[in-house]
Amino acid sequence: MPQDLRLLEDDVKDLLQMVREFTDEKLLPSAPGYEERSEDPLPLYRQLAELGLTGLPYPEEYGGGGLSYETYLCVVEEIARGYLGFAIGLSVHTLCAFAVNGFGSDDLKQDVLTKLCSGEWYGAYSLSEPHSGSDASALSTKAVLEGSSYRLSGSKVFCTRGNEADAVLVMARTSEERSKGISAFIVSKGTEGFGGSKKEDKMGWRSSPTWMLQLDDAVVDAGRLVGEEGQGFRIALASLDSGRLGIAACSIGLAQRALDEAVRFTSEREQFGKPINANQAVQFMLADMATQISAGRALYRHAARLRDAGQDYSIEAAQAKLFCSDAAMRVTIDAVQLHGGYGYVTEYPVERLMREAKGLQIVEGTNQIQRLVIGRRLTF
Ligand SMILES: Cc1cc2nc3c(=O)[nH]c(=O)nc-3n(C[C@H](O)[C@H](O)[C@H](O)COP(=O)(O)OP(=O)(O)OC[C@H]3O[C@@H](n4cnc5c(N)ncnc54)[C@H](O)[C@@H]3O)c2cc1C
Repeated sequence: MPQDLRLLEDDVKDLLQMVREFTDEKLLPSAPGYEERSEDPLPLYRQLAELGLTGLPYPEEYGGGGLSYETYLCVVEEIARGYLGFAIGLSVHTLCAFAVNGFGSDDLKQDVLTKLCSGEWYGAYSLSEPHSGSDASALSTKAVLEGSSYRLSGSKVFCTRGNEADAVLVMARTSEERSKGISAFIVSKGTEGFGGSKKEDKMGWRSSPTWMLQLDDAVVDAGRLVGEEGQGFRIALASLDSGRLGIAACSIGLAQRALDEAVRFTSEREQFGKPINANQAVQFMLADMATQISAGRALYRHAARLRDAGQDYSIEAAQAKLFCSDAAMRVTIDAVQLHGGYGYVTEYPVERLMREAKGLQIVEGTNQIQRLVIGRRLTF
């Protein structure tokens, strides 16, 4: 079952109906082509801005939609059902805006958040480095204050849309104190000494560009420091709590698509004189897939409601990311299985969905790291 709109407020229902049409008419048909060509879907990002979907959970005074995070996540799920790589781009954009909205000065919000909310600018998020992935506070990119600006130098890896985005939230070290020595900066596209040095060739999400970024004495105005010096790691982690919910919603959208494909295929494909889904063994697999999707959806929405109510939602965000991405992996593997040989060929979408699910278990903290976050909170 696709996400159930019945209990939603009328305006949210209308919004999701509009997004569902956009997904069915524009995203579903164009995703395979962009993926095959490994092409960033820029025209679709422009349409997203025209539809007013680029700043949904941010205040109206900065051009945002003023909507709840739960509503935003329902939109992300719907988009991911049609085109995961594109939904990832929206999720990362929202992650960058989160930091500016939550920690930036009013000037920075006027300068950057308004552009992100309107979709004039797209944002990216750059924490990972060659030698610091899960252990993110070991990062070594440096930022040195000189007069009214900082000079940033170092290498970043795995930055989604890092070279396409107009503004990248870059975490860099302003002092040697481990996590307390990290600060966050908005670095804009075109800054001298800053840019993509290598685009990764990936298993999936091929149209969502992943970049190695180089900073060589890149000069960033001190006004582009987000929050205060030394707050960067806190900002990075708080952003990730929100971002993990985006990945959870993406996972459920992807899993829903795989289930839809499996239901369709198993009702059309006949063996032994009847549709294969007339077999109880097949129905049981479909039932398990649907149940995992519903459970994951409930989990991420619960975490989002806590966030919207201003409550701590860190454990719930980690649980949602862990459960939903693991569910997406299992559901997409089963969708391939239910397609038999057709699941293994590129004519059908499920092999791509299975490759795409794998990435969701890795990004924004691997699922081992989510277990670590949950386990620590339970035992400390
Ligand atoms: C497609 C893609 C897009 C990405 N986009 C972004 C982005 O936009 N911005 C960004 O900053 N980063 C991004 N990343 C990076 C991503 O967040 C990291 O890959 C991830 O956090 C893991 O870091 P790592 O790859 O260095 O793996 P490592 O940290 O080296 O981990 C390797 C393995 O060891 C395990 N491991 C490590 N430490 C522990 C531990 N203490 N206990 C148990 N197991 C452990 C990990 O779970 C993993 O299985 C992206 C990655 C990919 C693949």
